Amino acid sequence: MGLIICTRHGKRGLLSVCAHIAHEVRRGGQVGLCPEKVELYWGVDNPKPELYCYVCRACGDKIRAVFGTTKIMNPDQWESCIDLAADGGGVCASCFGEVFPESKEA
Ligand SMILES: [Zn+2]
Ligand SMILES: [Zn+2]
Repeated sequence: MGLIICTRHGKRGLLSVCAHIAHEVRRGGQVGLCPEKVELYWGVDNPKPELYCYVCRACGDKIRAVFGTTKIMNPDQWESCIDLAADGGGVCASCFGEVFPESKEA
């Protein structure tokens, strides 16, 4: 996870999100989107995802239409997966946690 300097929280973890979720976080949750977690496992034996990002339902559906799942096992697929989701860059993890407390990572 990279770092971001948030105007409200200072130096925080950077969370990868699709453009729609990024917009939602910047608007403070006014649009009412619900984020879905997309995970990269880097092999079926991996118990825990190496990378993850949050996308909106529409972007999640696009990924599911191609891969049938949002649990991705292969880094090459992850690249196309990120291409499918409209790339919103990253948002401050604390801002995300305020807008979507139920998705907050420990
Ligand atoms: Zn989206
Ligand atoms: Zn913040």
